[in-house]
Amino acid sequence: MPARHLSNGEIAAELMALAQFIAAKGGNPYKVKAYRRAARTIKSLGESIDELVRNDFDLTEFPGIGQAISSAIQELVRTGTLRQLETVRSQAAPELLEIAEHPRLDPRRVLRVYKRLGISSIAALKEKLAEGEIRTRFGMRMEQHVRQGLQEAHDMLYYEAETVVAAIKTFLRRQCGIRKAEPVGECRRKVEIVREISFLVEADDLHAVLTKVAGYGGKADILTATDTEALAQLSSGTLLRLTASPHKKWGVALIETTGDEEHLRQLRTYNSKWDLAVSSDESFPTERSVYHYLGLSFIPPELREGKDEIALAAENRLPNLVCAEDIRGELHAHSTSSDGANTIEEMMAAAQELGYDYIGISDHSQTLKIARGLSEEALWEQIRFIDNLNARLNGIRVLKSAEVDILIDGALDYPNDLLKELDYTICSIHSRFGQGKAEQTDRILRAMDNRYFNILGHATGRLLLKRPGYEIDVERIVEHARNNRCFFEINSSPDRLDLSADNARIARQAGVKVAITTDAHSTGEFAYLRYGIDQARRAGFPKTSILNHLPWPELERTLKR
Ligand SMILES: [Zn+2]
Ligand SMILES: [Zn+2]
Repeated sequence: MPARHLSNGEIAAELMALAQFIAAKGGNPYKVKAYRRAARTIKSLGESIDELVRNDFDLTEFPGIGQAISSAIQELVRTGTLRQLETVRSQAAPELLEIAEHPRLDPRRVLRVYKRLGISSIAALKEKLAEGEIRTRFGMRMEQHVRQGLQEAHDMLYYEAETVVAAIKTFLRRQCGIRKAEPVGECRRKVEIVREISFLVEADDLHAVLTKVAGYGGKADILTATDTEALAQLSSGTLLRLTASPHKKWGVALIETTGDEEHLRQLRTYNSKWDLAVSSDESFPTERSVYHYLGLSFIPPELREGKDEIALAAENRLPNLVCAEDIRGELHAHSTSSDGANTIEEMMAAAQELGYDYIGISDHSQTLKIARGLSEEALWEQIRFIDNLNARLNGIRVLKSAEVDILIDGALDYPNDLLKELDYTICSIHSRFGQGKAEQTDRILRAMDNRYFNILGHATGRLLLKRPGYEIDVERIVEHARNNRCFFEINSSPDRLDLSADNARIARQAGVKVAITTDAHSTGEFAYLRYGIDQARRAGFPKTSILNHLPWPELERTLKR
């Protein structure tokens, strides 16, 4: 065994590089995915993989690590290198070696860019990006891909951060002997992109805790440390902030570490009692005790972003936020008729299992060929099929719907005499993302003029950490929706979460209801619902403003235009 120990971050980087080389050669995409997934698992672990291998631990016990990948990791730890990887490395062109170090770049796409621009290095790619040439020659999507791929970012989607948070919490409890460790900051506010993971801990000696944290995942760097606060960088690149608080001041510390800057600024200026709560000898073990002392009602963590929560808490007018139990049905789900993995019956059965009253099947429309969109005849047939199915069902109703493409001119992708037969529609943009803000806004406004338009699907088309989505004039669209009885969805898919909390807030303030949908492409994806609930809560939604909180007869009336 080599003397040098590898950190989890280093092991993950080698697996990612291997995935990049396989992808560049057009190799088996499942293999590429498997290596990437294993790398992500390894990055999130607190235990040192290196140590585990040296202690003959069976790595296949971890999710996403099968026999082949386990052997590769063992070889890497025991010999210091991975033969398969070294072979491809030694044969690879220099430009590919460089690309392999950027796991978020798609090597095949980037190599095509290199070829057409006559360049061969990341430095040149950055230059072309800055000059705007990637956009003019290859379009907005490619520009976004390159920009995201080159970012030295350790940002994570909230749902990925959840796994890391759980691992860190276990580590703090088991390895550091900490009695109390609460995730705070962005994770507690459920912000959809997490830049930094922070924990509040009850610890007598933070420095002693940090000596353990330095071994997280094999090796972590302690960037700054005082007696009460420290910032560490894990081998995966993730930033971990630890704040220590005595039990007596736990409530104050939770508020201080959870709220964003603006929330805290407003608390400090609300009245002089905040400073007293911080500095006095008085005990504030809970957040409730602190807010009560300030003369405010309890503010849910998701609302602590300095919007209107303090004014509302002062008047005891905070909304009673929606929660998962309030949801009576699903309104956006796909089946095997288009690009889903499960049949309509399977989706229905899973929805019934969840206790839903209804499930809307909204498969793709005819233009969206890549997602096997349904032809007019196929949708007619599906409507008859669902009618027959409903006649046999008890306790749950399958709603006839479609995710109808909004075409470039704002027309809907099915004729009205067909749309009329549906219980409701989800209307979405899936093409021509490159249009400007004015055109894209007009396109949606025109679509909303159709009386069979009901719910705007994933309003901006964003894919978090991948593409920002097209620009729209949200205020105008919300206004138009209100005047025409149209609605929005909060798409709970964790890489969409579209509407964003900010846009959802605009809809809520205009009195426009939203549906919280999962856009499930399989029965397992119904579980995404809670991520959409989180965002609805951040936007201040009570259950009464949520479409799929309504029982079907009331929902049906609400949707009628
Ligand atoms: Zn869609
Ligand atoms: Zn969809």
